Amino acid sequence: MNEQNIDRRTILKAATALAVTGVASSMGCAQPRGSGSTEARSLPGRGEFVIRGANILTMDAGIGDFARGDVHVRDGAIVAVAKEIAAPAATVIDAGGMICMPGFIDTHWHLWTSLLRPIVRIDDPKRSYFPVTNAFGRHYTPEDSYRSVRLGLAEGISAGATTVHNWAHNIRSPAHADAELRAMRDMGMRGRLAYGTSQGGPDDQPMDLAGLAKIKREWLPNDGMLTLGICSRNVGDSTNVLRGNISLEIARQDWGGARALGLPITMHTSGPSPIRFMEDAKLLGPDVQLVHPFLTTAEERQILRKRGVSYSTSPTGESRRSAKVGVIQLSELLEAGVKVSISIDHTSGYACDYFQCMRILYSLHLHRIGTKPRLTSKRLVQLATLDGAVDLGIADRTGSLTPGKRADIILVRTDDINIAPLSDPYEALVTFAQPRNIDTVIVDGRILQRAGRFTALDYAEVLREATEATTALRARAGQG
Ligand SMILES: [Zn+2]
Repeated sequence: MNEQNIDRRTILKAATALAVTGVASSMGCAQPRGSGSTEARSLPGRGEFVIRGANILTMDAGIGDFARGDVHVRDGAIVAVAKEIAAPAATVIDAGGMICMPGFIDTHWHLWTSLLRPIVRIDDPKRSYFPVTNAFGRHYTPEDSYRSVRLGLAEGISAGATTVHNWAHNIRSPAHADAELRAMRDMGMRGRLAYGTSQGGPDDQPMDLAGLAKIKREWLPNDGMLTLGICSRNVGDSTNVLRGNISLEIARQDWGGARALGLPITMHTSGPSPIRFMEDAKLLGPDVQLVHPFLTTAEERQILRKRGVSYSTSPTGESRRSAKVGVIQLSELLEAGVKVSISIDHTSGYACDYFQCMRILYSLHLHRIGTKPRLTSKRLVQLATLDGAVDLGIADRTGSLTPGKRADIILVRTDDINIAPLSDPYEALVTFAQPRNIDTVIVDGRILQRAGRFTALDYAEVLREATEATTALRARAGQG
């Protein structure tokens, strides 16, 4: 055990040195303008390294897996994946006893609610997620949004997320959107900001399309790390007024405005299915992602497949809902050929754990469906990685360990007590793994976590700033 600890300390030192001496990436893309042009703070650089001796799951069908192999990374890109790679100039990361795989891709996360963990309760309806986020959301300053997103992403990185779709449905001004994007950039996370409306805002008004256009001008194009979309209030579903519920006329304005800017759209579907209604209104297309797959009919699933609409499932929260209001239709969607991905939704009511997401989906599949059709562990890992990239339209740059793609990689220890001894790596990830087994997290070639610790992030500062913000929010919301 001692030897193992010393070895990890040595590795951490080497990783920190690499982070300090690493060079900035140059992807040849246009530089961001406006607020997006300022440099991220405290991020490790991108260097050249080779991950050696790992159990590699590439999630690329053309390359396959390696029981023992190497991954070569330079300037943020994956250069090669093979049994053995000679890279004399590269720093070596010894990954013996570890699974090397693409990072998790989270396709729906309300990062602005991360500050509310001390307030939300699961056992008190008055303090459950919706009343708390609605009451406190009205008091958010841009700085609160910044601190909340940083806190959430710190947890996301430690849980192995390398891409997050930040579902920002409390954009009270363009400055709030700017703050959320700055936090994503400062944390080194790849992702999309889904620009929304504000908690408590009027549902009979369209969203702030001028603000959206301003943010697009200021942030896009950038170095390829961040993209933009909108999150829509619910259309054709008034079962939960706290989610926002808009008429078809307002939806046409919001969605039309987003599409005029070339931006994709995401929307919750948590009550009666609105899919047939939306199809009749000609709203659906491949730029639409829906969230919470509960009550779709066979006919609607064919519509989704035909239109190229994707569905994000958040099993941790969804499995807490009564089965009377619908069950997670994973098997039905996959059978119909609908694109599916995985998300955490929020972390104010539970922790970020993608292994648990896969495990819940597997358990519920067995509970509801049984063994036919068979849901494999590998398919679940694909849902949490490559399929998330497909959902977000970024599979050309992430989601698999494919040479030429950006280096979004995690290393998972398999000699820890809850996993060892290892047999099938996919089985280990879905059945046994926990976030504490995540050793290393690399986003776009930057080593953000090594040996289970952040390499550059001052987590104590992130936590202190978040705690101060929560305390001040309580006072402003009259709940101090
Ligand atoms: Zn949600």
